[in-house]
Amino acid sequence: MADMLLSYFREKQKHTQKEKVYPTQCPFCSVQCKMQLVEQTSVTRKSYRTVGLMNPTSKGRLCIKGLNAHQHTFHTDRITHPLLKKDGEFVEVSWDVALQYIAKNIHDIQNEHGKNAMSVYGSASITNEEAYLMGKFARVALQTKYIDYNGRLCMSAAASAGAQTFGMDRGLTNRLEEVMYAECIILAGTNIAECQPTIMPYFEQAKENGAFIIAIDPRETATTKLADLHLKLKPGTDAALANGLLKIIIDEKLMDKSFIENRSNGYAEVARHLEDLSLDEISEKTGIVRKDLYRAAVTFAKKATGMILTARGVEQQTDGSLAVRNFLNILIATGKIGKQGCGYGAITGQSNGQGAREHGQKADQLPGYRSIENDEHRTYIADVWGVEEPDLPRKGVSAFEMIQKMDQGEIKGLFLLCSNPIVSNPNARFVKKALKKLDFLVAVDLFMSETAKLADVILPTTSYLEDEGTMTNLEGRVTLREAAKSAPGEARHDWQIICDVAKALDKERFFSYSCAEDIFNELRLASKGGIADYSGITYNRLRGNEGILWPCPSEDHPGTGRLFEESFAHPNGKAVMVVVPNEPMIVKEKPCAEYPLYLTTGRVMAHYLTGVQTRKSSSLAARHFESFMEIHPETAKQMNITDQTLVRISSRRGSIVVRSKWTATIRKDTVFVPFHWDESQNVNRLVEDKLDPTCRMPGFKVSAVQVELLDSQS
Ligand code: SF4
Repeated sequence: MADMLLSYFREKQKHTQKEKVYPTQCPFCSVQCKMQLVEQTSVTRKSYRTVGLMNPTSKGRLCIKGLNAHQHTFHTDRITHPLLKKDGEFVEVSWDVALQYIAKNIHDIQNEHGKNAMSVYGSASITNEEAYLMGKFARVALQTKYIDYNGRLCMSAAASAGAQTFGMDRGLTNRLEEVMYAECIILAGTNIAECQPTIMPYFEQAKENGAFIIAIDPRETATTKLADLHLKLKPGTDAALANGLLKIIIDEKLMDKSFIENRSNGYAEVARHLEDLSLDEISEKTGIVRKDLYRAAVTFAKKATGMILTARGVEQQTDGSLAVRNFLNILIATGKIGKQGCGYGAITGQSNGQGAREHGQKADQLPGYRSIENDEHRTYIADVWGVEEPDLPRKGVSAFEMIQKMDQGEIKGLFLLCSNPIVSNPNARFVKKALKKLDFLVAVDLFMSETAKLADVILPTTSYLEDEGTMTNLEGRVTLREAAKSAPGEARHDWQIICDVAKALDKERFFSYSCAEDIFNELRLASKGGIADYSGITYNRLRGNEGILWPCPSEDHPGTGRLFEESFAHPNGKAVMVVVPNEPMIVKEKPCAEYPLYLTTGRVMAHYLTGVQTRKSSSLAARHFESFMEIHPETAKQMNITDQTLVRISSRRGSIVVRSKWTATIRKDTVFVPFHWDESQNVNRLVEDKLDPTCRMPGFKVSAVQVELLDSQS
């Protein structure tokens, strides 16, 4: 009987299986791989698989995160109704009730404490339209100066370095395919093989073409394995290492004098500064022998073409902005920019790390990369928004500084969109304490994150499969991701939620849009004439999988693949070289008797940011279901720490408990912990909260810690 039933169902399944295809793009890293979700329905079950779609960036490739991205969107833990906290418990309420409650609380706070008592904290994982709207919401609906976003913790150092050196911040100055034409490539603090795996073939192809690859990283990673030369520097010494390379290039007279003279300012001061530096001291400081410094510097300078790419390893430091500028000094000194196979790339981490930093989410920014302190820019944007220029707030403060103001009681309320600051900010216990002091917290999220748990109201939002809008990938390529599925339950898109809250605050006339395209068309106008000019990009032009690289100032403009061919974006057309000290102004923690090891942090391939989405994917969680600490076996033995045992890691700010993982490829003075876990595994509880004085990036990559076997403390 059982056999008969089984064969009946098999037969039925064969005939009733239906297939539906949803074109989309991956919600995770900045490559923004195009893909399609294939849904197969039979009488007995529904199943899904994901396949890559051809496009100029990922060329149909997908990594493990993209292949399993849909799993979190179908997870039963999705928040699908507005939730209001009553007597410490969340209860489902209607949108009307939630919105009226939010409006009343915002009015009460602002009437009693002023407009700036409300704050807005955004995200670099949302669409361009939503990032644009967040900036407008803060300045027009709330009229607060306090807005910033989680990209501050990710891209701010590279962004400020590009803006100051070149006059323009676009992640890659060239199309990715130009990597294949570079004869030498410096990969500084970037683990592309794990963080953006689908672009790794560009580097592999470059190597096949004969490129010499130099990796700069304290750890041996899947990326450093590709390198011909791995400079395994002491954590936090990137700026000094770049000084060493630059000094050798100048001492050996390998500069491009004509490029320096015609295309840059500041070289003479940099050269004078380098004269006074000692290569022996740099070698001692960085832990890199002089021979390797020479090999790297001379090879890069002598090759006809070359590119430098940086990521969080260099950038997430209290001198990250200057460290990146020092690598840009090398590019300018050798004339390796603005030509095929020559340029710079900041490998963005977050999905819309590029676009979300261009249109007004930053504390000092208006759309199109305009400045909120520039009167001409203010007047232009005020006209686009239909408000008076004097009514626009001035600049606020960075993400972590907003949290400090919450702790001090100056900021009383927070509208938080798709971000988890308790886990992503440094000194995370302090952050939690500060957020608990708020009078009112609204969180918009897919899941109950560690931060959302503290909220008074949670509004359910849509995932990448359901939302619509444009994203800008790491090349500066604007792509369109249309909605593939309908929203679950009562979830609404981020842009709808922002408009709904604005409407509840009686600001509907500034926030009347019927679809994401309406918002994009306003963004186009707002960005027109700005540095990040999207005015020539339309949804119709974006349909298909090619995308358009900004700046694109008119509808017949093809977009800009390679930047700075003729001139840089400063008014005089020249790049600016800058003197970079070996030692940062904001001193980094160093190992000492009590805290004898460096701690550095980073990512694993299976997880994204604070893991709120990827830890809900069974396939991804299975790869790394808990955090861990990489430690050199010799260091571990000295501390009686066996492999795969629970350890307590402590810094001056707190402690966490994770499992040890012996790794012979890490420096003996350094341990590594990824940052995708919350609560007692949240490594950011250990990280100090000093900020880069230029870009306000926290120094995530260097802390001093001690490690103990958990048993010895229990
Ligand atoms: Fe592509 Fe990045 Fe998604 Fe992987 S995580 S599939 S590389 S967009």
